[in-house]
Amino acid sequence: MKVSVDRSLCYGSAECAHRAPAVFAFEDGYGVVRPGGADAAEDPRVREAVLEATEKCPSQAIVLTE
Ligand code: SF4
Repeated sequence: MKVSVDRSLCYGSAECAHRAPAVFAFEDGYGVVRPGGADAAEDPRVREAVLEATEKCPSQAIVLTE
């Protein structure tokens, strides 16, 4: 699964970093995918957290592609 954050949509709520800290970090006021974050998302429990973070992102800034 590829994970990315559309910075033009992100308004910096930091929820992604709280929900899936293995994949997302909060830097300079934006949610970002950590280096290696996409690999971490292959773990089923982490993947579930990523799906939840994506669903709950208030600006729909998280983009998942298979
Ligand atoms: S949850 Fe969405 S809006 Fe909030 S920091 Fe993450 S990507 Fe940005």
